[in-house]
Amino acid sequence: MKKIYPFKLGKFECMVVSDGEAFVPANMLFANAPGDILKQRLSDYNLKPEKIFGPLNCLVVNTRDHSVLIDTGLGHLAKLIPNGKKGGKLLRNLKAAGIKPEDIDTVIVTHYHSDHIGGISDKKGKPTFPGAKYFFMRSEWDFAVDQHEMIKAKLLTIQDQVEFLEEDAEIIPGIKAMAAPGHTPGHMMLSIYSEEKEMLYISDVIGHTLHIEFPDWCMSHEYDPKQAIRTRRTILEKSVKEKILIHAFHQDFPGLGYVVQGENGWTWQSVE
Ligand SMILES: [Zn+2]
Repeated sequence: MKKIYPFKLGKFECMVVSDGEAFVPANMLFANAPGDILKQRLSDYNLKPEKIFGPLNCLVVNTRDHSVLIDTGLGHLAKLIPNGKKGGKLLRNLKAAGIKPEDIDTVIVTHYHSDHIGGISDKKGKPTFPGAKYFFMRSEWDFAVDQHEMIKAKLLTIQDQVEFLEEDAEIIPGIKAMAAPGHTPGHMMLSIYSEEKEMLYISDVIGHTLHIEFPDWCMSHEYDPKQAIRTRRTILEKSVKEKILIHAFHQDFPGLGYVVQGENGWTWQSVE
């Protein structure tokens, strides 16, 4: 399995770095899907309903002025979560790419789920990226620290390094945070742009390629399913119309591609 995928976006040097993968059962990933259609589509894709593996595609963006990591994978939580045993490989893969934790000066976390925050600190609670500012939507943080203890304890490990975003804002030149709520209350996506080139890092706006074909299918753990559907439809429509390069955290590695109009609705076209 490939672990590193370098590419250029304008003058930015980007690299998808894998954290491995985790699985979710179909009834969680597509909680409201009609049984017969779901069964058919799973068999078309050769997927087993009890274990649908999804990659964890973190992204490094080197803008020359900043070295940015977006989402941190499962980290040591991979060992604590039954469906995450194949995750937690980000640091190893960063090292293979020649990137040291001290090199990263900006960490952007799109939402509080464990596959995105697990790698913010190690199992002793030491921030993984000692020189970095960690960016979080304020609304997401406030919601998350009220959730269960493991999440709260994890987040508090970076409280001395965290900077909050109150609203859509340019975090550093060329990377802008945009609210994409529904999956979680303060779920954010990012527009990354350099020299006329743009890509959207949509994180968990989709959890699987079938959400492109069926944007109304919701994940059982989505905070506000109706809002999640609205967000999903708006962003997918925008990416089809404007032919924007998309990075989706759980799409097949490297998670980069385009959403295109197919004969029967929208489909995914990977860059691979
Ligand atoms: Zn996720």
